[in-house]
Amino acid sequence: MNFSMVDCMKNYSIKKIDTHTHTYFSFDCAENGNSPEKMCDAAYQKGLDAIIFTDHVEVNAEVERTFPPLNISACKKQIEDAKEKFKGKLDVYRGVELGQITHYPDYAEYVVKTGGFDYIIGSVHNTKGEKDPYYTDFSKLSYEKIIYIVDKYFDEYLQMTYVPFIDQCAHLTYPIRYIKKAGIDIDITRWDDKITGILKSIIAHGKTYELNSVYVRKKVDLPEEHILRMYKALGGKKIRLGSDAHYIEHVSSGFDEAYDLIDNIYKGEIK
Ligand SMILES: [Zn+2]
Ligand SMILES: [Zn+2]
Repeated sequence: MNFSMVDCMKNYSIKKIDTHTHTYFSFDCAENGNSPEKMCDAAYQKGLDAIIFTDHVEVNAEVERTFPPLNISACKKQIEDAKEKFKGKLDVYRGVELGQITHYPDYAEYVVKTGGFDYIIGSVHNTKGEKDPYYTDFSKLSYEKIIYIVDKYFDEYLQMTYVPFIDQCAHLTYPIRYIKKAGIDIDITRWDDKITGILKSIIAHGKTYELNSVYVRKKVDLPEEHILRMYKALGGKKIRLGSDAHYIEHVSSGFDEAYDLIDNIYKGEIK
């Protein structure tokens, strides 16, 4: 956790900072033309005060060499150039999205220690031994297997919330997104106990809960409201919006709707 950055964050109202964005340095958007400079330009045009770049380091994939590693030095150079170019117009931060930290915690810690990032997002895309839900055809899986995957997901997510160097916990509903997209109806309340444990840990460890606005963009009916209500009931106050933009045009997309959801629950308490 970078304490100077935590202080800095207080300067931005929730809708004016996109805390979760990707550039073409991320393995899954190398062809998307989303250079740091173009992403900054989009953020500035949309009236944001700040953007945090959080390119993927998929810890398991980098260690197991199934994806190419993030080119941290090249990425850093272009982000620093963009930061210089937008000085006085847009604050630019260099973060990282660390996926599957608990699979190889030593490697994750090494990346954080050597990367010099302003902000660390933690996420779970795939659990140990399972495919990333993005690449999973849930319509071909048994209901029991789907329940097993989600159980395992929330268990690994909870472990991730204990990791000291994470600032923000990303897209808690990640597998639900792809299960719903496959047309499968599952009842989130089945996992209320596990989700409560996760939210309590996020609060106890001073982490930020990320409301990922992808659900707005993809028009998926996710249980974001249900979970936010639980978060509020537990006393959770630290929330940030992340567009998870992998394309230039997606910077801060869905923020108005996502903020309305928050405001509907927090009634002006979160600005
Ligand atoms: Zn992610
Ligand atoms: Zn992301």
